[in-house]
Amino acid sequence: MFAQLKPVATDPILGLMAAYREDPNPLKVDLGVGVYKDEQGHTAVLKCVKEAEALRLKQEDSKTYIGMAGDLGFNAHIEKLAFGNSHPVLLANRVTTAHTPGGTGALRVAAEFIKRANPDATIWVTTPTWANHISLFQAAGLKVKEYAYYDYDTKGLKTEQMFAELAQVPAGDVVLVHACCHNPSGMDLNFEQWQRFTELALERGFTPLVDMAYQGFGSGLDEDAKGLRYLAERVSELLLCSSCSKNFGLYRERIGAVSIVSADSQVMELAKVNLLSVVRSIYSMPPAHGAIIVSHILDSAELTALWHQELAEMRDRINNYRQLIIDKFAAEGITQDFSFIARQHGMFSFLGINKAQIDRLRDEFSIYMVGSSRVSIAGLNHANIDYFAKAVATVLK
Ligand code: PMP
Repeated sequence: MFAQLKPVATDPILGLMAAYREDPNPLKVDLGVGVYKDEQGHTAVLKCVKEAEALRLKQEDSKTYIGMAGDLGFNAHIEKLAFGNSHPVLLANRVTTAHTPGGTGALRVAAEFIKRANPDATIWVTTPTWANHISLFQAAGLKVKEYAYYDYDTKGLKTEQMFAELAQVPAGDVVLVHACCHNPSGMDLNFEQWQRFTELALERGFTPLVDMAYQGFGSGLDEDAKGLRYLAERVSELLLCSSCSKNFGLYRERIGAVSIVSADSQVMELAKVNLLSVVRSIYSMPPAHGAIIVSHILDSAELTALWHQELAEMRDRINNYRQLIIDKFAAEGITQDFSFIARQHGMFSFLGINKAQIDRLRDEFSIYMVGSSRVSIAGLNHANIDYFAKAVATVLK
């Protein structure tokens, strides 16, 4: 029966990664994959993580199951990190959290949870969005629709169109919004737009799902959660999917969380048993390692301070390179306006160059980016930025 399977198109990023690996050019530059790299082009283990792992090795005395919600200490930390220490939803005991295998696991659990609450729900995602959002929600059996978001012409947001479309979303549907560092465009909602989004959610009665995969990578841990916190103070229900892949550099440990905010603590209990039963039916319990590392870090004032410092280093490096790209492009005589790069946040930016130019960068210069011209800024460093700027200047001529 397996022979009857249909071929599946592979994710273009995976093909790009393979082509990059096989490219013998010593000058090759990988701007495709969405992982942080340091000045040496390396995705290093954070020092705070190394210390927490050493502690774990010393202290861990059992490998018994941890339960469907995962590590409860981690869950309490992640709620405070997202909502802030004394957010009304936490004080009113309206939040239930389960730690999950990565942010992807959180999204899948959220999708199954939504289906239980409203099997007819459609989930609305930004155009464009992280490619996996659409396939993941469809695989879970949800209907997916898109709302206008990024404007490829102005390199900003299609603000009015976005709100006009959201004003048509029926009650009972779910609207996914990126908390910060929008993937793939780098364009985030400003505070006023968060306010308008909140008003519409209240008016229309749709349920927001906030995907927060990059907290701390944009402007700071609290700043990046400002929109979420504002929204959560006003709506009665929302879902939050967070990830520790980027901000703790724990990509392969697969650690994230799904948090459900309910109207009151009674509904929260109902949400909790359903959430746990969804988890039980998929993978029963999450792996513990990543959660315990994060817990050890956030349990310790010293390790937390070290984490804040390391996170700020990653954030500052990306933001510095945003400006550096603009300066280097200007120095190469590029007259096209790339100032939008500095207005964006997080790992990614759409350069806005065309397919022929992207292909030339790859074929002639071994510079790899995805077909949408999304670049992962952290792939740039002191050793390749000039080469990159010169190559872009060449293909833009
Ligand atoms: N949401 C978005 C918007 C992402 O960009 C990513 C990771 N690329 C995720 C969720 C999932 O992250 P994780 O690796 O933790 O599964």
